Amino acid sequence: MKAAILYKANTPLEVVEVEQQGPQAGEARVRVMATGVCHSDWHIMNGDWTPPLPMVLGHEAAGQVEEVGPGVSTVRPGDHVVFSFRPHCGRCLYCSTGRSVLCDGYSSPRWLMLDGTFRLSRDGQPLHQLARLGTFAEFVVCPAEMVIPIRKAMPWPQAALVGCAVPTGVGAVTRCARVEAGASVLVIGCGGVGLNVVQGARLAGAQTIIGCDLLDNKLAFARQFGATHTLNPRDGDPVERVRGLTGGRGVDYAFDAIGSEATTLQILDAIRPGGTAVIVGMAALTVRAPISPYVMALHEKTLKGTIYGSIRPNLDIPQLVELYLDGRLQLDELISRTYRLDEINEGFAALRRGEVARGVVVFPG
Ligand SMILES: [Zn+2]
Ligand SMILES: [Zn+2]
Repeated sequence: MKAAILYKANTPLEVVEVEQQGPQAGEARVRVMATGVCHSDWHIMNGDWTPPLPMVLGHEAAGQVEEVGPGVSTVRPGDHVVFSFRPHCGRCLYCSTGRSVLCDGYSSPRWLMLDGTFRLSRDGQPLHQLARLGTFAEFVVCPAEMVIPIRKAMPWPQAALVGCAVPTGVGAVTRCARVEAGASVLVIGCGGVGLNVVQGARLAGAQTIIGCDLLDNKLAFARQFGATHTLNPRDGDPVERVRGLTGGRGVDYAFDAIGSEATTLQILDAIRPGGTAVIVGMAALTVRAPISPYVMALHEKTLKGTIYGSIRPNLDIPQLVELYLDGRLQLDELISRTYRLDEINEGFAALRRGEVARGVVVFPG
């Protein structure tokens, strides 16, 4: 079977034949049907994050279960599933309290199977799997707890997005910040994740939703997903303009879907006293932001982070699928472009140029 391998940072992915072992106890083998091109994969390709290589990247995907190993009872062959890229041991402090995105129940590194071994190799060289998945491949063998069954009516490319961008953005609003109806919301960065923060705010009933991005085409996407106002920082200081739209006070909630020093400081400046700023976008490891402890205390500001939208994957992934099938979640509009697996490097080039809401690799059925 074919997979896209990163051998070295700042070199293209190589789409080549690899050898795959079947599922062991507690594992499933899934035929990948669609997989999204996400900025987190790019962080590894460009050397921002440095897990061991070679690695099969890809973590936002959906597919059909082909085979399960001994002891698997949660899925069976034929099931349609969305991959969840966080572990879920079911026993640790976090899993026990409904916060499994923070699961710390396993000691093996997150690019090997739970027993610490590999399932993929090429010419005898073992290959790591990003997040124990590595969905830039025709098939994935992974822990069965990381595949979540969904309704078969769900189309594949849209299902793939429910694996990362959609829960990360919508969950940041509904699960992490818990935005209430009537609230005012700022979203900095209107790519795949930021657009889902915008539509999460719309679902929550926010009254004012301000999208902010340096690219006017992304601001047009933001209006399509529910932004009531859009700002391009090239036209003036975005924090001043946010205050202008909120009676001089600032927004109730601000979300940073980028993850940089400047945007972290902007979301803190843009919230009103008593407001909440949420870091959603994953930054490079070296990024630091100098905040003012004095202002944090004086204005009772809250700064939070969220991984994977603080969702409960087993509950929230099927629920997001239902919201789409009910016509209340916009996913078709997110898919700007589709690619074959051997075109994946073009998918990352388009991501870097900011041309797409989301690019998705689809596999011939
Ligand atoms: Zn992602
Ligand atoms: Zn756990």
